[in-house]
Amino acid sequence: MEPLLSVENLRTYFYLSRGVVKAVDGVSFNIMRDEVFSLVGETGCGKSVTALSILRLIGPPGKIVSGKVMFEGRNLLELNEADMRKIRGKEIAMIFQNPMTSLNPILTVGFQIGEPLMAHFGEDKKSAISKAIKLIRRVKIPDPDIRARYYPHQFSGGMRQRALIAMMISCRPKLLIADEPTTALDVTIQAQILDLLMELKKDYKTSMLMITHDFGVVAEMSDRVGVMYLGNIVEMGEVEEVFENPLHPYTKGLIACLPLKPERKKKLEHIPGVLPSPINPPRGCKFHPRCKYAMDICREKPPETIDLGGHIVACHMYSR
Ligand code: SF4
Repeated sequence: MEPLLSVENLRTYFYLSRGVVKAVDGVSFNIMRDEVFSLVGETGCGKSVTALSILRLIGPPGKIVSGKVMFEGRNLLELNEADMRKIRGKEIAMIFQNPMTSLNPILTVGFQIGEPLMAHFGEDKKSAISKAIKLIRRVKIPDPDIRARYYPHQFSGGMRQRALIAMMISCRPKLLIADEPTTALDVTIQAQILDLLMELKKDYKTSMLMITHDFGVVAEMSDRVGVMYLGNIVEMGEVEEVFENPLHPYTKGLIACLPLKPERKKKLEHIPGVLPSPINPPRGCKFHPRCKYAMDICREKPPETIDLGGHIVACHMYSR
């Protein structure tokens, strides 16, 4: 089966006066129809830049240097800006961590949710707002007729995120990108928003790219996961397989930090060291300064990506 989205060897660099940051440095993955794929890793690992590159929302000093982003047979990196605008919001929509950055403070929430329907489907204002009210109800905001006339500042953080989700699903996109959609919310609201996203994903048959630093979110939401470290995917596979049988020392560290099962609490392990500077990353395997299994070759040569029957890992320990 053809994937809905195929990212092939994507490289996005930032040209700063201090040097070049290779934020995304040869990333490849597929997302199938009706699938939730997560990219997980620490802040600065390149997962959000990957998401923004898919929608070509990278501005200077950043630049997509090479690679392909195939979506339904078209390379998005080769489309002109007018065609790309038709994709954004309609075919691929993105939910950000802070909804205030996506909602306009001087327009009512109802108008903003209806706006994509006017822009992409030529709906008139009355019909778009009436559909917006239905969407507000669908994302479980109470009193939708009244709330449609509210401005974003009159909503709580959780309601703003629900409103943004309503806006993003209004055009029934084939792919929804959710970039840390619950990080700015308190814990009980986080769970509600994740439940809502999963409900909508089932109803609308939308594929999803989830960007998160939280392996707990990955376990709950995803079918497959890619673990990112300093611009590369170091491990990728079915979520259950990666959880039960993590191969890369970094993934092992991330999972060991999760108090998911009582027995894991006893062996809480922290990944030693801090994320190295992305301007001057370590030679060889970028994880070697933090890796307790590092060998001589790890300090010299970057590991190749090895496919062990759909479970992919980039680590010299698995080289044949
Ligand atoms: Fe550790 Fe070497 Fe594997 Fe890198 S390649 S994760 S340093 S063992």
